[in-house]
Order: sequence, then C-alpha cells, then structure tokens
Amino acid sequence: MADQINIVNLPPTQYLVLEVLAARTRTGEHLWTFPSNLGPALRALEDASLISTMNGIAPASIRARLTETGRAYALKSNYAPPVIEMLTKALELLHDFADDDACHFDHHGDCQSHGSIRGTCRNALIKDLLDWHATDTAPYAGGEGR
Ligand SMILES: [Zn+2]
Repeated sequence: MADQINIVNLPPTQYLVLEVLAARTRTGEHLWTFPSNLGPALRALEDASLISTMNGIAPASIRARLTETGRAYALKSNYAPPVIEMLTKALELLHDFADDDACHFDHHGDCQSHGSIRGTCRNALIKDLLDWHATDTAPYAGGEGR
C-alpha cells in the first residue's frame, strides 16, 4: 500500500504526524504519544504501512512509531541532526582519550592508573558509556539518529 502514497500529497494531519515521528526518531525516541482524537489520521498511516500504533499509557492517547516502510519514506539516510553530529564528535574524542588499562585502586579508593579519586574512576565511566553506546539499545546506535 505504501508505494501508492505520495508523502507530499498526504492530508496535513497525516503529513505532520509522519514528520513528528521522523523528528522524534532522529532524537532517539522510537515511540511517540498522540491524542486519541488523531486516531483517523493515525489509522490511515497504519493502513498505508507507514506507522504502527498501540494504546497510549496516558488516558485518551495512542502511541505510534515508524515502520521500516515509514522510515524509508520519512527519514533521509544522509541527514544527521546537529545534536547527533556533536554527539558523534564527543564520543570519538572520548574514545580517543579512553585508556584500555585496567583500574588499580589504592587503599583510599583512588584509581592509580587513571588519576581518579574517591572510588569512581572517570576512565571506567567513559568505558562504560562507550560500551553502552556500542549496543543496539543505545540512542543513536547503528545510525538510529537519521
Ligand atoms: Zn581507572
């Protein structure tokens, strides 16, 4: 059904719902809540295989997400929001500065390997963040921020 749709010619509410979901997906949100009075627009997009819906958590709400077809229509693969570009640069810098050597805590709880004091080594926190970012569950992992 989706190949019969011209996104530019969608009714305004459907177009804007698709744009909201695209914008939210770019910021790492894969589900977004809409008021239930948008039900007809959401159902039309779901019938076109562009989104999937489920009951919202809040009263009188519907949650929606882009389907793979919807993502292909609504997201440009070469677009990265400025915040994602900044995050990518920050993570690259953290990766360059992170040390692979193990922490060695002295009797005061200070990491002698990385110069961190009081039990929490900044290098270990950075390594945890980089490890988490490498998983599929992290926002923006694997190009999710398109
Ligand atoms: Zn350390």
